[in-house]
Amino acid sequence: MHEGPPRAAPDWQTKSPYQIENPQKGFDKKYTAACHCGAVEFAASEDPLDVKYCHCKVCQRVHGAPFQWAAIFRKTSILFTKGIEQLEFYNTANGSKDHQLPSKVLCKECHSPLADEGRNMFLAFPTAFRFEHGKVPAAFRPSCHIFYGSRVVDIPDGAPKFEGMKGDSKELPETR
Ligand SMILES: [Zn+2]
Ligand SMILES: [Zn+2]
Repeated sequence: MHEGPPRAAPDWQTKSPYQIENPQKGFDKKYTAACHCGAVEFAASEDPLDVKYCHCKVCQRVHGAPFQWAAIFRKTSILFTKGIEQLEFYNTANGSKDHQLPSKVLCKECHSPLADEGRNMFLAFPTAFRFEHGKVPAAFRPSCHIFYGSRVVDIPDGAPKFEGMKGDSKELPETR
């Protein structure tokens, strides 16, 4: 009986940071992360390139939080180690759930938000990370606040605050 070729994995599953077909050899798990229910796990091999708090209205609504905390990594510095078939995607611009980048990456089971996947970068949410002794490393402290003009809470932490995008909007004074 001819059963035809096996069904090909969706394209995104063959690339960083998912890569079920060609997992990277010798990936150093510097940090590990998981969703709330544990169905999905991933790791990071190095410190984030940058870390931001985003106070935009989309982040507030989608995260159900006053602002979003995101750590920016190269996609090759991230590797999903469990549960990529349990992932769900959501593009906030067009509502697509088909892994159209940029896309939210969440666990399908518990709906924990895990990251914003851009075309080139992976903006992981440090809230998913399991830091040693529960202490946030200095590398995960935000370098700046973006969309501070739409904040719902003041964060007087001394980090630069931009009204909108960094480099594309004016810097706002710190208020208490
Ligand atoms: Zn989960
Ligand atoms: Zn935002």
